[in-house]
Amino acid sequence: MTDTKTSQELIKLEDKYGAHNYHPLPVVLAKGEGPFMWDVEGKRYFDFLSAYSAVNQGHCHPKIVNALYEQAQTLTLTSRAFYNDTLGPYEQYVTEYFGYDKILPMNTGAEGDETAIKLCRKWGYEKKGIPDGEAKIIVCENNFHGRTITVISMSTDPDARNGFGPYTPGFITIPYNDLGALSIALKDPNVAGFLVEPIQGEAGVFVPDEGYLAKTYEMCKAKNVLFIADEVQTGIARTGKLLACDHENVRPDILILGKALSGGIYPVSAVLADDDIMLCIKPGEHGSTFGGNPVASKVAVAALEVVKDEKLAERADHLGNIFREEMQNIDSPMIELVRGKGLLNAIIIKPTNGKEAWDVCVEMAKNGVLAKPTHGHIIRFAPPLVISEEELREAISLIKKSILVFA
Ligand code: PLP
Repeated sequence: MTDTKTSQELIKLEDKYGAHNYHPLPVVLAKGEGPFMWDVEGKRYFDFLSAYSAVNQGHCHPKIVNALYEQAQTLTLTSRAFYNDTLGPYEQYVTEYFGYDKILPMNTGAEGDETAIKLCRKWGYEKKGIPDGEAKIIVCENNFHGRTITVISMSTDPDARNGFGPYTPGFITIPYNDLGALSIALKDPNVAGFLVEPIQGEAGVFVPDEGYLAKTYEMCKAKNVLFIADEVQTGIARTGKLLACDHENVRPDILILGKALSGGIYPVSAVLADDDIMLCIKPGEHGSTFGGNPVASKVAVAALEVVKDEKLAERADHLGNIFREEMQNIDSPMIELVRGKGLLNAIIIKPTNGKEAWDVCVEMAKNGVLAKPTHGHIIRFAPPLVISEEELREAISLIKKSILVFA
């Protein structure tokens, strides 16, 4: 069937039949390849969002697509009621890749966080001896860990929280990048874990001070508290290292991965930990029908192989330096600040002549670059890591042009 609908018609369909839980830019995409996407009218765009850092390996990477295609013709789902011939090899591959004893496979990032919270609480009761029902987890202001009830219970964003109570108890919220606040919170003997994003992505690519991760890890160790890193957005080469925690040589006790674990081709997430933590969860206590299914397993192995084969971490590091330098050189009052690591970057936009971050994004889209504002005044720039230097420089000139049109 050939679909001949125009962008306007397709936007109307989503508006009429879909829940209004997103506010997309008015661009309707129909195809992707590498760092590019094309709309239904055939216009080409540089993708500077990468599906919120899920498409690090580039759109429709042939090796990952092939893994999906081959496995989809062979065996797609067995549930975990039985063993299968793909899960064990995937578990061995991924645990060796990241250096942990075990993986618990899930599907989405939010499920990864939910899993980590359950695992941490269970460890708190079984290993740390916290009285039943009293375990607490320290979380940070302006975090983003997904959209489930427990996850939004940890959120400080009114849009994410308000109107969805009652909330899950058991969290202590402290400011991000504040060692003093962590030190006070850690005095509570019922604290089982500290859940942190190494860089706060959704908050607007907020990079903590150098040494923050290493120091907070040490503080957690001193109090027998698990350091839990949500690397759903920062992980898998995005920030110029395999994990953002690698920048400070921190090995989280519990590591949460998602998004680019599949190269954006399938929902695959994972929680990794060593035996003394992971084996606190027993048969029947946690699971997912789709988690670790044969397609997910094959896709994740292929996606991780691409990261190594194509040296994506090194590329992100090199290209990120170019990107930030070029952005800092744009002579416009609209650019208040450029920040980020690797290819996870953001520009803080100062409204000028009545124009804001949204207007810049609409102008960029006109010029062939897709990015999206977060929190009104911040634009995140996160292209697929397979983008070449030449392509990056071309995109940079389009971004410059789009900003300079306003001021
Ligand atoms: N954790 C972090 C750090 C994220 O950035 C996100 C999504 O943006 C999530 C968790 C949730 O992932 P998902 O949308 O796959 O549930």
